[in-house]
Amino acid sequence: MTGLLWTFEDFVAAMRGRPTGIATPPISGISIDSRTIIPGDAFFAIRGEQFDGHDFVGKAAAQGAALAVIAEERLAALGRLTIPLVVVEDVLKALELLGQAARERTIASVAAVTGSVGKTTTKEMLARCLAASGPVHYSPASFNNHWGVPLTLARMPADTRFAVFEIGMNHPGEIDPLVRMVRPHVGIITTIAPVHVEFFPDGIAGITRAKAEIFHGIERGGAAILNRDNPQFEPLALMAIDAGVDRVLGFGENADAEARLTALDLLPEGSRARADILGREVSFTLGAPGRHLVQNALATLLAVQLLGGDLDAAADALGSMAAPKGRGAQHVLGLAEGSALLIDESYNANPTSMRAAISVLAAARPGPAGRRFAVLGDMLELGPEEMALHAGLAEPLAEAGIDAVLLAGPRMAALWEALPTAIKGHYAETAEELDVILEAALADGDVIMVKGSKGSRMTPLVERLINHFPPP
Ligand code: ATP
Ligand code: MG
Repeated sequence: MTGLLWTFEDFVAAMRGRPTGIATPPISGISIDSRTIIPGDAFFAIRGEQFDGHDFVGKAAAQGAALAVIAEERLAALGRLTIPLVVVEDVLKALELLGQAARERTIASVAAVTGSVGKTTTKEMLARCLAASGPVHYSPASFNNHWGVPLTLARMPADTRFAVFEIGMNHPGEIDPLVRMVRPHVGIITTIAPVHVEFFPDGIAGITRAKAEIFHGIERGGAAILNRDNPQFEPLALMAIDAGVDRVLGFGENADAEARLTALDLLPEGSRARADILGREVSFTLGAPGRHLVQNALATLLAVQLLGGDLDAAADALGSMAAPKGRGAQHVLGLAEGSALLIDESYNANPTSMRAAISVLAAARPGPAGRRFAVLGDMLELGPEEMALHAGLAEPLAEAGIDAVLLAGPRMAALWEALPTAIKGHYAETAEELDVILEAALADGDVIMVKGSKGSRMTPLVERLINHFPPP
């Protein structure tokens, strides 16, 4: 059991729950997944799309849960259980109330990160940079939705100094309630791009409005941090002012940006950069390559400064920033003769992050006889323009000095048609079919970048490659 997170009294009072027994166990953690319970956790029996937590209360008890929070209507059917129960009307609502109570009791400086791409990367960066100044609490993985955000809030220790939350959305109206729970002092929008367009009939304008919901929860005296180089900067800035946000600040290369890039050296293994952050000059190196990471770093440094963290310590911390798993993380593949470098971008894809990853591959340095391979799977949820958006990648690929492009998926057929013949590697309907091609093709010094939407199953392809070619 770890330290005390909630006293039983505060816990029950926050959700106005009804204990069924006389036990008042202390609570050291919060869980909604019986598989990962640690003794001392409070288990919330949330109903998801596939599972209902109420079916796992017994398992949670066996794993050492301190108590379970369950719905009134399910109490009778649960039978005899060995752990204390707290009965509420709605379990998700109870988790939200606990999250709000956690937010109310904290003195932490709080940041929220949203945007079309780069939320997790920026959240990880910001958490790492703030950790140089005090205890940081932050969202694990992409816990950015209607259960991920309240869960992360409810887990926030009382003595947290800084907190960083990722807030995501697929539809209009999703960010609003979440940011009102988080009540950030600083709200970051990494960038606006055509992602989840399928759910936004009016395209970028609708996406911009939905992201602007983050302004609804920013605390008085707080700030919005926006991408100064994004075409949606002006509309977003107006929406922030309309929503009553006190300070609207930009990051980027634009001369008016409050966090402004003043020098940049993009290298295959990382970047060296200089920036002016609200009038203070900062130099930093980034432990992973790509211009997009430099943008995220500018937003991060500006947030650190506004949240009262140590800017120089934050700049130092960026040097040890590795790309997160599936978002640029690099692996060495051991071949029969020599080795190849795999850039794993398989976590997700859309036209914006595809271009970012293509430019990282372009900047990579293959060995003497090595080549650059792009292995790309379908980008999903792009709406009626999807085929054109796939074909549109032909230009950046042609300009990037890539030796061969290998594609998988029905939508990538449009890109295949558009590719210059010289870089046409192979087209397959599914990612699985690319295994044999890659296994035969890879040679010493090659660099291979793999990317696609989650549903295109490029992550299993990466795993198969790593299994087939274990590190030397
Ligand atoms: P999700 O909505 O799935 O949670 P996210 O917004 O958290 O996604 P990340 O997981 O950080 O985004 O990154 C997704 C992809 O976008 C990765 O391939 C990453 O390398 C790339 N990326 C990160 N930051 C940027 C950026 N500022 N601009 C373009 N691409 C970026
Ligand atoms: Mg994410």
